[in-house]
Amino acid sequence: MAGRSANEAGVPSRDRDARSLTLPELQSTLATWSEPPFRATQIMEWLHRRRVTGWEAMTNLPRPLRQRLANRFTLRCLEPRVVQGSADTTRKFLWRLPDGAFVESVLIPANPALYGEASDRVTLCVSTQVGCAYGCRFCASGLGGWKRNLEPFEIVEQVLAAERWHAAQPAAGTATRLVTNLVIMGMGEPLANYDRLLRALRILNADWGGRIGARRITLSTCGLVPQIRRLATEPEQFGLAISLHGATDPVRERIMPVNRKYPLAQLIPACEAYIAGKGRIITLEYILIAGVNDGPDQAPPLADIARRLRAKINLIPYNRVDGLPWERPEPARQERFLAALEQRGARATLRREKGHDIDAACGQLRLRTGLETADEPSGNPS
Ligand code: SAH
Repeated sequence: MAGRSANEAGVPSRDRDARSLTLPELQSTLATWSEPPFRATQIMEWLHRRRVTGWEAMTNLPRPLRQRLANRFTLRCLEPRVVQGSADTTRKFLWRLPDGAFVESVLIPANPALYGEASDRVTLCVSTQVGCAYGCRFCASGLGGWKRNLEPFEIVEQVLAAERWHAAQPAAGTATRLVTNLVIMGMGEPLANYDRLLRALRILNADWGGRIGARRITLSTCGLVPQIRRLATEPEQFGLAISLHGATDPVRERIMPVNRKYPLAQLIPACEAYIAGKGRIITLEYILIAGVNDGPDQAPPLADIARRLRAKINLIPYNRVDGLPWERPEPARQERFLAALEQRGARATLRREKGHDIDAACGQLRLRTGLETADEPSGNPS
């Protein structure tokens, strides 16, 4: 992995972007240049609060220092290629990465903003990889296979670039932070890019960085057992969501090949370890797919798993993906499934999704615009 060969600041040598740096790392670089430590704080303020895109904008730094920083670090930005709006003000971004690959983010206000009134919670759904290796049968992201991991700055930049875009809108307010919550549910499997993701989340969480509380950050995984156990030992209180989608091994395996490697008998104890380590509730995501996992054979075992884990079930009607055969069940069947869960004492909600009209399910925009094959990425698989 690229991170094994580190430069003097402990930064992966292939990724020299300033948004991949922590404050102590920047301070140690500046110390070798005999610069005072407060310069590092000033730089972080420019990067993470003012979201500048060039060193020359950092007007309270001496010009030679700006030049030196520019020689040492990059400041590469994501370009929005398509910004889709939706009736409920959900926004979907398709980002062009520095190497020409494409990933997506979705901006979701909790309560649709009314005239002149800001929404109280704004969630950004971010991507962690270009493509995905896990091949879940319902998901658009895995259709073209896995291309590469995102670097930390490419994860951090999704937040900064979405906020930059928002600040440029005529109706934008003056708040320094737009995004209050993060869900790591975009393209890719977050826990398969563990080290880079954790670095990015720590930067987004830090006081000197994004200042997004760890409890407002939720990671979603297809169920990578060793990494769930590892995450349970980290100091941060990140939320965890499990893409379950099947409550017995045969059904889950049909939907998610990863279940062969990590069957329910391993996944559920790993979830228990996470809950014990964090004292946090986890969420079970369950896409309802007509005739596949929405029948009376799945509701009772799903309710049992949720009760065992004291987890909340999030039922999501399947979003059609071009090239995939499945359909969502009729609303009455969705309601019956929900009722069966509740009858067995499980906590569940049926999502009336935001963004259904803008291809907001994972990987759908990239798929629909055909941009996933636009350029050959040059990233280093690890
Ligand atoms: N790899 C991670 C994150 C990406 S998928 C994981 O598996 O959790 C995250 C979520 O996106 C899924 O659990 C599901 O809730 C949603 N999703 C993806 N494709 C979808 C589709 N076609 N219809 C509805 N929801 C979908």
